[in-house]
Amino acid sequence: MSETNKNDLIVVAGAGGFIAGALVKYFADRGFTRIRAVDKKPLPEWYQRVPGAECLCLDLSHEEHCRRVCEDATEVYNLAADMGGMGFIERFRIECLRSILINTHMIEAAYRAGAQRYFFSSSACVYNTDLQKDPKVRGLKESDAYPAMAERGYGWEKLMSEMFCEEYWHERGMKTAIARFHNVYGPYGTWDGGREKAPAAICRKVIEAKDRGIDSIEIWGDGNQTRSFMYIDDCTRGIDSIMHSDDLTATPINLGSSELVSINELVNIAEELGGVELKRDYRLDAPQGVAGRNSDNTMIQKILGWEPDTPLREGLAKTYVWIERQYMDRKAGKRTVV
Ligand code: NAD
Repeated sequence: MSETNKNDLIVVAGAGGFIAGALVKYFADRGFTRIRAVDKKPLPEWYQRVPGAECLCLDLSHEEHCRRVCEDATEVYNLAADMGGMGFIERFRIECLRSILINTHMIEAAYRAGAQRYFFSSSACVYNTDLQKDPKVRGLKESDAYPAMAERGYGWEKLMSEMFCEEYWHERGMKTAIARFHNVYGPYGTWDGGREKAPAAICRKVIEAKDRGIDSIEIWGDGNQTRSFMYIDDCTRGIDSIMHSDDLTATPINLGSSELVSINELVNIAEELGGVELKRDYRLDAPQGVAGRNSDNTMIQKILGWEPDTPLREGLAKTYVWIERQYMDRKAGKRTVV
């Protein structure tokens, strides 16, 4: 495991969003003094603003902006992407594919700037969809991405960007790290507006039902589809460990929980947290993605001796409380995330 100097310049792209915002906070909390946070969103819309971090508002699909943000960087973390939950990635495949521009320019700019390490946030959506047709799936292991049959749009962009990372190491010698995130959730994430993922959407629907006296909840699909969900603190810790492990250079690795639950079970937990029981209104025509998906954590356990381990109930409790506060603040006319 290599160490970074606390005064080295760290660049975090996508820092106005959920995971990269949390990553900036993670490094700031650990005493890093030079963090450059970048996002195309206007600053007032960033989910977290970390005191002391340099914040730049730039569109990273332009090469010249990538060069500007990578100047003097020792490490570059690229988490910028046009993304969202199933509702977004099934509907806006072209936007998802266009995120290839961000990684293409960022990795070249990082290389030209002489950065020592480059991180790319890939996704479980790279995995062959033929292996995910049963809710009782076996966990997906890293080799399951090939032969390739990734999620249309979003998954193919991630797969291609992974390939860039692999070749910048093999051909040009820049150390790259690639983590395939499986659904990440937690406070300061998108919770409304169409890009939110299942944990946030379900918490919000329960909160809304309670607040408005509604006795039912709309669920996308039949509720039997299965997933695993990783709490944000596990994600930031995992990014740091993967980036600094020389055994993982240019090697895609799963970063996700292996606690498989059905969407119905996720709803049960959210209902318990809210102290309500709602009738379930299953929307079979809504976007629902693959039937089942879980993370096989054999490789991360073997190489890092750790896997994301925050129990879903514990992480969801913190997330629920945070979303409830956002919901109430919005209702009171106050400014909120999203
Ligand atoms: P997010 O939408 O909250 O954050 C992404 C940020 O990137 C946004 O703030 C957005 O404004 C920014 N961005 C988009 N296009 C940009 C551009 N051209 N220039 C500069 N900034 C731009 O998403 P997130 O959940 O924090 O995801 C972060 C990364 O992790 C993404 O690459 C995503 O694909 C990946 N990922 C996330 C999950 C998850 O469950 N959240 C799962 C798998 C992979």
